[in-house]
Amino acid sequence: MTRAHTVLISGLGVAGPPLTFWLKAAEFQPILIEHAPALRSGGYVVDFWGLGYDIAERMGLGDEFNRIGYHIREMRIVNQHGKQIAGFGTTVFPELIGGRYVTIAQRVIASSDQKARRRRGNYFRRRNPDLARVE
Ligand SMILES: Cc1cc2nc3c(=O)[nH]c(=O)nc-3n(C[C@H](O)[C@H](O)[C@H](O)COP(=O)(O)OP(=O)(O)OC[C@H]3O[C@@H](n4cnc5c(N)ncnc54)[C@H](O)[C@@H]3O)c2cc1C
Repeated sequence: MTRAHTVLISGLGVAGPPLTFWLKAAEFQPILIEHAPALRSGGYVVDFWGLGYDIAERMGLGDEFNRIGYHIREMRIVNQHGKQIAGFGTTVFPELIGGRYVTIAQRVIASSDQKARRRRGNYFRRRNPDLARVE
């Protein structure tokens, strides 16, 4: 049964897509709005570990995030000529938490709700407009 409640979610950033996913799983009717004219194609990267990593796995996205994400081994600080002047290894972070650590570009997160639902097949009975453009 689909609940009558609709929920308006503002922003197709990090929080919006997973919130849409879980509200739909709970039979609500979320509508996700975004003021940008298109899905992000750039943006910064976000480290996934701990609870965020667990939730991505529960959405069925763990393998994909690990496949397309970055597994950063080293941080380099360079001068204006690109020559390394300092740096440090970063493998200690994932090692401390059993490898459950991946770095994801924002553009991937923006479409994660749609990817997660594709994995669930017919899990959702209704197709709602997920992305309405608001200017
Ligand atoms: C450089 C940097 C690195 C970071 N690294 C990490 C990290 O490694 N790990 C981590 O856990 N967190 C990290 N964070 C924090 C993390 O990015 C934020 O906590 C997270 O993005 C917040 O999610 P959000 O969905 O609330 O906002 P956002 O991801 O900022 O998304 C907000 C969305 O709402 C849209 N929007 C804004 N106003 C409106 C409006 N009026 N109507 C419709 N849409 C609107 C925006 O266009 C945007 O798409 C980092 C942040 C920065 C800046």
